[in-house]
Order: sequence, then structure tokens, then C-alpha cells
Amino acid sequence: MKFGEKTLQRGDNGADVEELQLRLAGFRGTIWDGDFGPGTELQVMTFQKDYMNMETPTGIVNGDTFAALDQFTQKFSINFEAIKCPCGVCDGFGQNRFKNKYQAGKSDIEAFYRYEYPGIHKAILNSFRAAQFYANQAGYDIPYPTSGYRCWVNNEQKNRQSTNHMGKALDIDFPLKPNEDKQDDCNRCNAVRGLLVEKCGFQIGWSAGNMKALEPADIAPTWIHMDVRCYSRKYLDDKYFIKNIQELNGHL
Ligand SMILES: [Zn+2]
Repeated sequence: MKFGEKTLQRGDNGADVEELQLRLAGFRGTIWDGDFGPGTELQVMTFQKDYMNMETPTGIVNGDTFAALDQFTQKFSINFEAIKCPCGVCDGFGQNRFKNKYQAGKSDIEAFYRYEYPGIHKAILNSFRAAQFYANQAGYDIPYPTSGYRCWVNNEQKNRQSTNHMGKALDIDFPLKPNEDKQDDCNRCNAVRGLLVEKCGFQIGWSAGNMKALEPADIAPTWIHMDVRCYSRKYLDDKYFIKNIQELNGHL
């Protein structure tokens, strides 16, 4: 059964529920475990209320909600050319190197995991869509990606050690208006970070497990960095990392 052919509601489970959870990753957002529980229901109701302007959200995903999900996907698109690795050596999404390898002298946690994931995580890309929607709704310009995948070749070129951008992270920003200065830029990024916490279920920093994260303002003053590095390994399986819009939008 293809995604969109079967009504989904609380108590359901399976691959199409997982796909729904990923599509709605930026509407509150929960784990993508294929189980339609109260967290998924809240995601659906948030989407119905905020995006579909439904007066009485049902939490049930039927024809109208599937159609709205498709419209949302089309309306808030993602330019994959802009999120590819700029190293000039890999295909844009690393070389799938360093599986099970951690940085020397560091603990075996995701922050130090050297693996070049095979693409960018669906939950981050779909959260970027929700960020576009909520920012626009709040009166800001639509944010655009400034940095997506950065493989180890690019790290060496730039003399950095961070593993976040090997599929788990995306940086976004807003166009600076002619009369704006750096402080205006910082203020806007701070305000939108607040919006992403309130609406999309992000945390600032990395203290909670299985939750989307934003870098705090002292690390990312004039841009917004979002990542999924706090998730346990099963939610970072290779199958969640994709390299093109077809894979992101593809129905099961
Ligand atoms: Zn590269």
C-alpha cells in the first residue's frame, strides 16, 4: 500500500506511519518509530491547525490531510544543489567512509562519530520545510540553506573537525535587507530560533536525547544551525539519509 492510500490514525503502525512522522518532523516532531501514538497525533493536529487552518483538528490523516501534505511538500521545496558538499571530490554527500569510527581520544558518541552518512537526514530537511512555513507565517522572508553536507575532504580543506554536517545538520539564514546590520541579523536569528523551539519541537543545545537541536546564539550568531545528532543510532539508520528531492518526496 502506498503512502497516502490508507487513512492513518492513533493505534496504527508501520512504514507509512514512519513516513508520516518524517514528513511532519517540523510540526512539534517526535521520534520516527512507525508507531502512531499521542506524539504523532499531536504532530498531525499541529499540522492540521497551523498549516491547514482546520478549526477542529481531528488527528486523523485521510484524503484532505494527505493532499495538504503533498501541497506543503511542493510549496516548500529544497534546492539540493545548495546543500551538497562543496569539496569538489565527493559526489556531494561524502564517500560513505568511517563507519563505526570515532575521533581519536574522544568518547563513542554521535558528536565524535566520523561516519559520512549517505545523504542528509529526512527529518532535518522536512524540518527546514516547516521552518520556511513558520518563518513566513510570522512575517519573515523565507530562509534559505547556507551549508548542508560537509565531508571529511571538506573538513580537511577548512581545517575543521566537526562531524555534524556529515548528513545530520543544515544551516539556514535570511537575506539581509539593505538597511540592516549585523545586530539586526542576530536579533532575527534569535527570534526565529525561539519560533522553532515553540512550533517545531527543537531544543537549544544538545542536552535532551531524541530531540532536534539548534546551536545556541554564541555559536551561531548570524545563522541558524539545526541538527539531529541527539538521536539514538536506530533513528540515524542509513535509510533516513537521502541525496535528492525524489528520494525525499518519494511515496513508499
Ligand atoms: Zn565532499
